[in-house]
Amino acid sequence: MTDIQAIVHPFDDARAFAQMSLDLLVGQHLAPSPLSYTVAYAYASAAIPEIVDALRQRIESGQTLDENLLHALFDTHIAADRAAQLRSVGHDLKQLLLLLIRNLDHAGQGTAEFGRALAASLHRLDSAVDADALRGIAGDMLDATRQAQQRNDQLQERLRETVVETEQLRGELEEHRRAALVDPLTGLLNRRAMDAHFDELLVQRRAFALLMVDIDHFKAINDTYGHALGDAVIRNVADAIRNCIRGGDHAVRYGGEEFLVMLPDTPLDGASKVAEAIRARIHGLRLVRRRDHFQLDPFTVSVGVTAWQAGDSADGMLQRADRALYASKNSGRNRVSVIDGPA
Ligand code: GH3
Ligand code: MG
Ligand code: MG
Repeated sequence: MTDIQAIVHPFDDARAFAQMSLDLLVGQHLAPSPLSYTVAYAYASAAIPEIVDALRQRIESGQTLDENLLHALFDTHIAADRAAQLRSVGHDLKQLLLLLIRNLDHAGQGTAEFGRALAASLHRLDSAVDADALRGIAGDMLDATRQAQQRNDQLQERLRETVVETEQLRGELEEHRRAALVDPLTGLLNRRAMDAHFDELLVQRRAFALLMVDIDHFKAINDTYGHALGDAVIRNVADAIRNCIRGGDHAVRYGGEEFLVMLPDTPLDGASKVAEAIRARIHGLRLVRRRDHFQLDPFTVSVGVTAWQAGDSADGMLQRADRALYASKNSGRNRVSVIDGPA
């Protein structure tokens, strides 16, 4: 299954694929609705092999495409992934609960039976006259107790199994949750996760600093070395950022070659030091392509830094970080600029 968020192309490629997608749809008299367009783009850019195969067969055999087919491909190869996985975990959880309820019912019936057996023994005790009769009653009580104990052991075993299976399902759900918040190229947080962290920090009125990091002249890197090496540069920048921050900080891939770092409980001067460490580390990177030992020229980033002030909003902070970043770009790049609280 392909994560649609992972389909990212350089501007010129994306524009060419978009044109091909439109030509394909319009040529088939299909409206370029968001859904049909997404499938056509996945085909034009060869991003999703299953869609390429399905459409190529139709097109090569001269058959027309229709919206039903495109919608079915969208459902199967684009929309289905996460929803289907979650549905399946939900289904497993439901089966587990039903089993557990059946076992508890069983145990309930067993306990009632045990109670009835004990009551019957009690009743017989009243009229028992000799040792044999008493021994018989004691024997029956022992049998009933053993049976009850056996049922209990079975129930305990089932409960233990249920705990193990529930733990597994919880792990799977956690994995889905994590995947929904992570950028696939870099492993950094995505914008959805960023929004959640902003909400959390702003609700708590917790002071934090914000860094905006943008790779300098990245378009030239892409143009010179190609998209794949461009991606490798993005991944290395992400790693460098990760290496310069602490566990409680949040690093986000904010856009193609733009990153955000949220630093809770960090004053402006501390944040500037982190920004400077990131800048210096990336300036010092010497990347070598494994395949042919080709050495990339050093590259740099510009950074904008700002800090939370009472009454701040996420948009306000992002705009300030952006202004600080552009101050770095305008004064020569490969530098850190700071803008204090709301102007
Ligand atoms: P500046 O120094 O002013 O930041 O210039 P720049 O070239 O870095 O900035 P610009 O915004 O002009 O270009 C960014 C380029 O990044 C354009 C786009 O094609 C490319 N890009 C965006 N996302 C990705 C990606 O995921 N992978 C690759 N390889 N390139 C990407
Ligand atoms: Mg850039
Ligand atoms: Mg940029």
